[in-house]
Amino acid sequence: MAKQNIIEQAESKQPQLMQHFIHLMTTNRLSHAYLFSGLPGCGKRAVAQVVAMRFFCQTPNADGMPCGHCPECNRIMAGDNPDVVTVEPDGQRIKVDQVRYIKDEFAKSPVEGATKVFIIEGAETLTTNAANGLLKFIEEPVANRVIFLLTTNKSMMLATILSRTQIVEFPSLTAKAFADDLRQHQISENQIPLLNGLTNSLEDAEQLIADDWLAHCQHELGRWFNQLAKRDDMAFVTVQTGLMPLASDRDHQAVILDIIVLLWQDMLQVKYLLGEAPAVFPELQTAMAKLAQSLTRQQLLAILTAALGTKKALAGNMNIQSILETLTLQILDELKPKD
Ligand SMILES: [Zn+2]
Repeated sequence: MAKQNIIEQAESKQPQLMQHFIHLMTTNRLSHAYLFSGLPGCGKRAVAQVVAMRFFCQTPNADGMPCGHCPECNRIMAGDNPDVVTVEPDGQRIKVDQVRYIKDEFAKSPVEGATKVFIIEGAETLTTNAANGLLKFIEEPVANRVIFLLTTNKSMMLATILSRTQIVEFPSLTAKAFADDLRQHQISENQIPLLNGLTNSLEDAEQLIADDWLAHCQHELGRWFNQLAKRDDMAFVTVQTGLMPLASDRDHQAVILDIIVLLWQDMLQVKYLLGEAPAVFPELQTAMAKLAQSLTRQQLLAILTAALGTKKALAGNMNIQSILETLTLQILDELKPKD
């Protein structure tokens, strides 16, 4: 898949917001200060950059979007236009000298174009002092300055900033846009449906694949499922030898339980809704199809209900090993022929 440029990213991730902002611009109704709030990777920066490109683009398209290939568009995509000031946290936070830089730039007139655009990522990491310093600019609109504060954690923003900016909540990505984004980040094709089922945040996805944790998890849960499908008591041993080493902390424990639910939902798909949704576990489809033939609706529902209950048990501070062992025994019990 070819790398998407910023315009393609913005259009794929946030088609409605993108249209909305282009409409505001072409009708001269853009405000001077926005707070973009949303998950990491949901397209906040791309939308702000496309707005910036639209200010400078020499040949905008008929639909109002910047062209994406004139010299001005290219300069902004390369981060090379002095009138588009972009700042992101240096380490954990936006540093004092970065705030000074923003203020200095704010005080200067646009160098080339008619407008100066400020894009400040990680705005929640501004210190109270720094945020108060910027407030002055936000409170008294200066002609030809547009500021975009971007945050993944609106609850950490000062109330004074929240009340003086137009807050735009960025919706989560659609499954398709998120899958495209994962592909852009070279995430393996056989992990995409599963990641799509688990999260909507690129940051979370990257944490899950770190150190091959997700790949190991897929492998061990695949083994566990195959053993269950054969009514093999070894599934109980796999909990201890395969799954427990992956359940090192609360977050990973919760994800394992989420994956188990997705696995049995996949099974439901195989039995009743063949092909309507992409399989989360393509490599288990054959085993699932075989098991589906011998499984009654009651059995499948009983297993799903047990799987869905595990998250509650974890929240109730039950030990993960007990949760997984109990579930395994319940499933084995459900699957074995009754006397
Ligand atoms: Zn252009």
